[in-house]
Amino acid sequence: MRVLLVEDDPHLGPVLARGLREEGYATDLVTTVADADLHLAVHEYDAVVLDLGLPDGDGSVLSRQVRDRGLPTAVLILTARSTLSDKVAGLDGGADDYLVKPFDHPELAARLRAVLRRPRSVVGPVLEAGDLRLDPATRTVWRGAVVIPLTPREFALLQYLLTHAGRVVSRSELLEHVWDAHYEGGSNVVDAHVANLRRKLDVTGLQNPVETVRGVGFRIGPTR
Ligand code: CA
Repeated sequence: MRVLLVEDDPHLGPVLARGLREEGYATDLVTTVADADLHLAVHEYDAVVLDLGLPDGDGSVLSRQVRDRGLPTAVLILTARSTLSDKVAGLDGGADDYLVKPFDHPELAARLRAVLRRPRSVVGPVLEAGDLRLDPATRTVWRGAVVIPLTPREFALLQYLLTHAGRVVSRSELLEHVWDAHYEGGSNVVDAHVANLRRKLDVTGLQNPVETVRGVGFRIGPTR
Protein backbone atom coordinates (compact mmCIF):
# COMPACT_ATOMS: atom_id res chain seq x y z
CA MET A 1 0.00 0.00 0.00
CA ARG A 2 1.32 3.39 -0.95
CA VAL A 3 0.60 6.40 1.25
CA LEU A 4 1.11 10.10 0.62
CA LEU A 5 1.70 11.87 3.92
CA VAL A 6 1.13 15.63 3.74
CA GLU A 7 2.39 17.20 6.96
CA ASP A 8 4.47 20.36 7.29
CA ASP A 9 5.34 20.03 10.97
CA PRO A 10 9.13 19.43 10.87
CA HIS A 11 8.99 17.10 13.87
CA LEU A 12 5.68 15.28 13.39
CA GLY A 13 6.08 14.67 9.63
CA PRO A 14 9.23 12.52 9.78
CA VAL A 15 7.99 10.71 12.92
CA LEU A 16 4.70 9.78 11.24
CA ALA A 17 6.48 8.80 8.03
CA ARG A 18 8.80 6.50 9.96
CA GLY A 19 5.85 4.96 11.84
CA LEU A 20 3.96 4.32 8.60
CA ARG A 21 7.00 2.79 6.91
CA GLU A 22 7.54 0.51 9.90
CA GLU A 23 4.02 -0.79 9.30
CA GLY A 24 4.87 -1.57 5.72
CA TYR A 25 3.34 1.40 3.92
CA ALA A 26 5.41 2.83 1.09
CA THR A 27 5.25 6.40 2.35
CA ASP A 28 6.07 9.65 0.57
CA LEU A 29 6.27 12.71 2.81
CA VAL A 30 5.53 16.16 1.40
CA THR A 31 5.00 19.44 3.23
CA THR A 32 3.01 21.66 0.85
CA VAL A 33 -0.23 21.58 -1.14
CA ALA A 34 1.74 22.19 -4.34
CA ASP A 35 4.07 19.27 -3.74
CA ALA A 36 1.18 16.98 -2.76
CA ASP A 37 -0.65 17.99 -5.92
CA LEU A 38 2.37 17.06 -8.00
CA HIS A 39 2.71 13.67 -6.30
CA LEU A 40 -1.00 12.91 -6.75
CA ALA A 41 -0.73 13.68 -10.45
CA VAL A 42 2.22 11.32 -10.94
CA HIS A 43 1.63 8.40 -8.57
CA GLU A 44 -1.38 6.36 -7.59
CA TYR A 45 -1.83 6.29 -3.83
CA ASP A 46 -3.99 3.98 -1.78
CA ALA A 47 -4.32 6.64 0.88
CA VAL A 48 -3.51 10.27 1.62
CA VAL A 49 -2.87 11.24 5.23
CA LEU A 50 -3.50 14.92 5.20
CA ASP A 51 -2.75 17.81 7.54
CA LEU A 52 -5.05 20.79 6.88
CA GLY A 53 -2.88 23.73 7.96
CA LEU A 54 -0.20 23.81 5.27
CA PRO A 55 2.16 26.68 4.42
CA ASP A 56 0.72 27.31 0.94
CA GLY A 57 -2.96 26.65 1.59
CA ASP A 58 -5.62 24.50 3.18
CA GLY A 59 -5.15 20.74 2.79
CA SER A 60 -8.88 20.28 2.23
CA VAL A 61 -8.44 21.36 -1.42
CA LEU A 62 -6.48 18.14 -1.88
CA SER A 63 -9.20 15.88 -0.50
CA ARG A 64 -11.72 17.60 -2.76
CA GLN A 65 -9.39 17.12 -5.71
CA VAL A 66 -8.97 13.42 -4.97
CA ARG A 67 -12.74 13.02 -5.11
CA ASP A 68 -13.35 15.30 -8.08
CA ARG A 69 -10.85 13.30 -10.09
CA GLY A 70 -12.50 10.07 -8.93
CA LEU A 71 -9.18 8.73 -7.64
CA PRO A 72 -9.34 5.38 -5.80
CA THR A 73 -7.54 6.95 -2.86
CA ALA A 74 -8.67 7.03 0.77
CA VAL A 75 -8.26 10.36 2.54
CA LEU A 76 -7.56 10.58 6.26
CA ILE A 77 -7.40 14.10 7.67
CA LEU A 78 -5.12 14.97 10.58
CA THR A 79 -5.74 18.29 12.16
CA ALA A 80 -5.70 20.35 15.30
CA ARG A 81 -9.14 21.71 14.38
CA SER A 82 -11.67 19.85 16.42
CA THR A 83 -15.03 21.61 16.20
CA LEU A 84 -18.06 19.76 14.92
CA SER A 85 -18.30 22.02 11.85
CA ASP A 86 -14.63 21.37 11.02
CA LYS A 87 -15.27 17.63 11.13
CA VAL A 88 -18.42 17.87 9.03
CA ALA A 89 -16.65 20.10 6.49
CA GLY A 90 -13.70 17.69 6.32
CA LEU A 91 -15.85 14.62 5.78
CA ASP A 92 -18.22 16.33 3.32
CA GLY A 93 -15.16 17.67 1.53
CA GLY A 94 -14.22 14.14 0.54
CA ALA A 95 -12.30 12.76 3.52
CA ASP A 96 -12.97 9.19 4.63
CA ASP A 97 -11.97 9.82 8.21
CA TYR A 98 -10.79 12.54 10.52
CA LEU A 99 -8.29 12.38 13.34
CA VAL A 100 -7.81 15.26 15.77
CA LYS A 101 -4.32 16.12 17.02
CA PRO A 102 -2.83 15.14 19.34
CA PHE A 103 -3.32 11.42 18.65
CA ASP A 104 -1.36 8.26 19.28
CA HIS A 105 0.23 6.46 16.40
CA PRO A 106 -1.68 3.19 17.02
CA GLU A 107 -4.94 5.07 16.50
CA LEU A 108 -3.71 6.54 13.21
CA ALA A 109 -2.58 3.09 12.13
CA ALA A 110 -5.93 1.53 13.03
CA ARG A 111 -7.94 4.23 11.26
CA LEU A 112 -5.76 3.94 8.20
CA ARG A 113 -6.32 0.19 8.10
CA ALA A 114 -10.05 0.80 8.45
CA VAL A 115 -10.30 3.31 5.56
CA LEU A 116 -8.14 1.07 3.38
CA ARG A 117 -10.48 -1.87 4.00
CA ARG A 118 -13.46 0.03 2.61
CA PRO A 119 -14.23 -0.33 -1.07
CA ARG A 120 -13.28 2.83 -2.89
CA SER A 121 -15.56 5.34 -4.59
CA VAL A 122 -18.62 4.50 -2.52
CA VAL A 123 -19.69 8.10 -2.85
CA GLY A 124 -18.27 8.49 -6.32
CA PRO A 125 -16.94 11.46 -8.18
CA VAL A 126 -18.85 14.59 -9.12
CA LEU A 127 -21.30 13.87 -11.95
CA GLU A 128 -21.42 16.30 -14.85
CA ALA A 129 -23.37 16.88 -18.03
CA GLY A 130 -22.61 20.13 -19.79
CA ASP A 131 -23.18 22.98 -17.34
CA LEU A 132 -24.94 20.69 -14.85
CA ARG A 133 -22.91 19.32 -11.92
CA LEU A 134 -23.95 17.10 -9.04
CA ASP A 135 -21.70 16.37 -6.07
CA PRO A 136 -22.90 13.21 -4.27
CA ALA A 137 -20.76 13.93 -1.20
CA THR A 138 -22.07 17.39 -0.42
CA ARG A 139 -25.43 16.75 -2.12
CA THR A 140 -25.07 19.95 -4.11
CA VAL A 141 -26.32 20.62 -7.63
CA TRP A 142 -25.15 23.49 -9.83
CA ARG A 143 -26.03 24.84 -13.24
CA GLY A 144 -23.00 26.85 -14.16
CA ALA A 145 -22.26 28.83 -11.02
CA VAL A 146 -25.87 28.72 -9.74
CA VAL A 147 -26.62 26.33 -6.87
CA ILE A 148 -29.97 24.57 -7.38
CA PRO A 149 -31.76 23.54 -4.17
CA LEU A 150 -33.54 20.19 -4.62
CA THR A 151 -35.63 17.94 -2.40
CA PRO A 152 -34.00 14.57 -1.52
CA ARG A 153 -36.26 12.82 -4.06
CA GLU A 154 -35.45 15.27 -6.85
CA PHE A 155 -31.77 14.91 -6.00
CA ALA A 156 -32.01 11.11 -6.19
CA LEU A 157 -33.83 11.35 -9.53
CA LEU A 158 -31.21 13.64 -10.99
CA GLN A 159 -28.37 11.49 -9.64
CA TYR A 160 -29.89 8.40 -11.28
CA LEU A 161 -30.36 10.18 -14.62
CA LEU A 162 -26.81 11.57 -14.54
CA THR A 163 -25.35 8.18 -13.62
CA HIS A 164 -27.01 6.88 -16.78
CA ALA A 165 -26.37 9.97 -18.89
CA GLY A 166 -26.98 9.50 -22.59
CA ARG A 167 -29.45 6.65 -22.10
CA VAL A 168 -33.23 6.89 -21.94
CA VAL A 169 -34.41 5.88 -18.47
CA SER A 170 -37.96 4.56 -18.24
CA ARG A 171 -40.54 5.55 -15.63
CA SER A 172 -40.62 2.03 -14.19
CA GLU A 173 -36.84 2.02 -13.86
CA LEU A 174 -36.96 5.31 -11.98
CA LEU A 175 -39.73 3.98 -9.74
CA GLU A 176 -37.62 0.94 -9.02
CA HIS A 177 -34.42 2.85 -8.20
CA VAL A 178 -35.56 6.15 -6.76
CA TRP A 179 -38.68 5.14 -4.83
CA ASP A 180 -38.52 2.51 -2.13
CA ALA A 181 -40.10 -0.92 -2.26
CA HIS A 182 -43.08 0.17 -0.22
CA TYR A 183 -44.24 2.78 -2.70
CA GLU A 184 -47.60 1.78 -4.12
CA GLY A 185 -48.65 4.78 -6.18
CA GLY A 186 -48.71 4.94 -9.95
CA SER A 187 -45.92 5.96 -12.25
CA ASN A 188 -47.43 9.44 -12.70
CA VAL A 189 -45.61 10.35 -9.50
CA VAL A 190 -42.42 10.12 -11.57
CA ASP A 191 -43.75 12.64 -14.07
CA ALA A 192 -44.73 15.01 -11.26
CA HIS A 193 -41.26 14.88 -9.72
CA VAL A 194 -39.48 15.16 -13.05
CA ALA A 195 -41.63 18.20 -13.86
CA ASN A 196 -40.58 19.84 -10.58
CA LEU A 197 -36.96 18.93 -11.22
CA ARG A 198 -37.06 20.42 -14.74
CA ARG A 199 -38.65 23.60 -13.44
CA LYS A 200 -35.88 24.02 -10.83
CA LEU A 201 -33.15 23.32 -13.39
CA ASP A 202 -34.59 25.95 -15.71
CA VAL A 203 -31.92 28.62 -15.47
CA THR A 204 -32.44 31.56 -17.80
CA GLY A 205 -30.49 31.28 -21.02
CA LEU A 206 -29.55 27.62 -20.58
CA GLN A 207 -31.22 24.67 -22.28
CA ASN A 208 -33.05 22.34 -19.88
CA PRO A 209 -30.84 19.26 -19.44
CA VAL A 210 -33.70 16.81 -18.75
CA GLU A 211 -35.24 15.64 -21.99
CA THR A 212 -38.59 13.85 -22.15
CA VAL A 213 -38.62 11.02 -24.68
CA ARG A 214 -42.29 10.60 -25.46
CA GLY A 215 -43.72 7.25 -24.50
CA VAL A 216 -40.39 5.96 -23.21
CA GLY A 217 -38.95 8.02 -20.39
CA PHE A 218 -36.32 10.64 -19.70
CA ARG A 219 -32.77 11.34 -20.69
CA ILE A 220 -29.91 13.62 -19.78
CA GLY A 221 -27.49 13.99 -22.64
CA PRO A 222 -23.88 13.01 -22.01
CA THR A 223 -22.83 16.54 -22.96
CA ARG A 224 -24.68 19.49 -24.31
CA1 CA B 1 0.35 22.03 9.75
